[in-house]
Amino acid sequence: MRLLLILLFSWMSSAGVHAAPAESDALLHLNGESSRVELNTYWDFIADPSSTGDVYTVHGLPAERFTRHASGVPNFGFTEQRYWFRTQLQQSSGDESWFLEFDYPPLDNIDVFLLDQQGEMLVVEHGGDRRPFAQRLIKSRQFTVELPLPLDEPVWLYVAVQTEGSLQMPAVLYSAPRYVSNTRSEYYLLGLYYGALLSMLLYSLLTYLSVRDASHLYYIVYIAAYGLFQLTINGLAFEYLWPQWPGWNNRMLPLAISVATLTLILLTRSFLQTRTLVPRIDGLLRLVQWLYVALALACLVMPYNWAIRLSTASAVISPLVVFAIAVWIFWAGYRQSRFFLLAFTVLLLGMVLYALKTFHVLPGTFLTEHALQIGSALQMILLMVALADRMRLLKQENLRIEQEARVLLEQRVLERTEELNSALRELGDKNRQLSELSTIDGLTGVFNRAHQEEVLATEWARACRQRGPLSVLMVDIDHFKRVNDNYGHQAGDAVLKTVAAHIKNFAKRKADVVCRYGGEEFMVILPDTSSEGAFTLAEGIRQGLAELEIPVVGNLLRVTVSIGLASAIPGSPAEDELVALVGAADAALYRAKQEGRNQVRLGAV
Ligand code: GH3
Ligand code: MG
Ligand code: MG
Repeated sequence: MRLLLILLFSWMSSAGVHAAPAESDALLHLNGESSRVELNTYWDFIADPSSTGDVYTVHGLPAERFTRHASGVPNFGFTEQRYWFRTQLQQSSGDESWFLEFDYPPLDNIDVFLLDQQGEMLVVEHGGDRRPFAQRLIKSRQFTVELPLPLDEPVWLYVAVQTEGSLQMPAVLYSAPRYVSNTRSEYYLLGLYYGALLSMLLYSLLTYLSVRDASHLYYIVYIAAYGLFQLTINGLAFEYLWPQWPGWNNRMLPLAISVATLTLILLTRSFLQTRTLVPRIDGLLRLVQWLYVALALACLVMPYNWAIRLSTASAVISPLVVFAIAVWIFWAGYRQSRFFLLAFTVLLLGMVLYALKTFHVLPGTFLTEHALQIGSALQMILLMVALADRMRLLKQENLRIEQEARVLLEQRVLERTEELNSALRELGDKNRQLSELSTIDGLTGVFNRAHQEEVLATEWARACRQRGPLSVLMVDIDHFKRVNDNYGHQAGDAVLKTVAAHIKNFAKRKADVVCRYGGEEFMVILPDTSSEGAFTLAEGIRQGLAELEIPVVGNLLRVTVSIGLASAIPGSPAEDELVALVGAADAALYRAKQEGRNQVRLGAV
């Protein structure tokens, strides 16, 4: 990422080259005080527009043709021109072996020459990532040349550099022990970094396999592409992944950057659900996404120059855009974007810190130097947290919906059950009413003839089982025809009602049943009642009624009844005995009528 920004800044300007004409030849004394020297300000340089000059031609040029590099890492921006750098070295410490390291692996062609004062060639080496890795004498991710420096004797160091893309030359000179220890710790730290990246990748891959969430997939590709970009730009990919294919190595850089930015957009769209939350912005993102797809494909065929410029621009713009959208969505109240937003805040903070350092607003401390690495590493960790957090929120949401659905369902079931129950109750009521209606006489409210027959049969059977008495009264109103004739049928009906109620008043036992037998004739069934008891009851009914004044259409009427009584202890449940009982009651009633009415007669069974 640091190098990415270098790429960007060098594209924007070639401000890295502060220069003045070389007044005298530069000479670097290596006297044992320092085991590591950045060669930046020791360089004199000259452009070699034709790219044809060989080292002797350049060596023969007058000193004033060269320019002294004033400060910082020489940086010529995007240029394909070849540049020559030279300086003089002289070691007086006894360390004969020094290492010249070029700390910018993407450089295409680097030619190193070491000449002594007589112009004799001590070292010639060609490096850069346009040549197979195997050609390097020192197998390191940065092109490194061992320089044998004779004691107390100045030598000329010439470096010719040409590259597509950004030309910058952070060349560093190390003593042998320093070089060894430096390289070790550097590789170790890089190993840690990529190990962390790899474990995040594997973890997300496993998570993806179990949850099948598209965001996880994009995140995985994002880490992979970003990791590949880092591996390529710091030379490790060339060293370990494709040492035989320098051409591929040079294509890889813009390709990895565009795939990373593409997946960043995909991740954003999927994670922030922009399609539903901010449809208009989502339309824009979709456009950008297809542009990046086109860019990634174009990186395979486009001239490197263009590919690296376009992909670098996309890599700097995309995080800004994503950050803005994340802020927007967070502002709109969508909690699930909080860690996502944090991740990009940290990344942008890193970018800003690094930019401030680059423009010398902030001093170069460990934090500002590595702001981008720290920022991007934290970003990836936070993105992982964001994914986990989102999964948790989604799960919560699902649970809530499930719970709601269950409550709703239970409520529905309750409602339905209640409806069903009340319907059943109603049905029961109706049924009861219906069955009562079918057993009750409409006018008088006592049981009807059909019910009377049923009850009589049942009671007869019971009496038979219990060997108990069963008595039956036949009650007939005397001269009822006259009531009808004199007062009208309605008066007759009223009298019938009164008589029925009067009889019911007397037949009070639970088992007693009063029925309307015919027109003005009633039957009273008295289970478990002897003939004496029944006679008393019958007398009660007769006397009580005789004293009763019945108000009918302005008059007070008196009616009397004749009652025939029959009683038996059934010997067998046979029907003819029962018929005989009713016949006896009927006969007794007839006798009562014959003998003057308003009396009770006992029939013989
Ligand atoms: P008896 O003393 O011999 O029984 O004389 P009665 O007039 O009571 O007997 P009868 O059998 O000759 O007359 C019965 C009358 O009862 C005939 C009929 O008009 C009347 N009746 C029968 N059912 C009803 C009824 O539901 N309402 C009214 N208003 N009259 C009825
Ligand atoms: Mg009568
Ligand atoms: Mg009659």
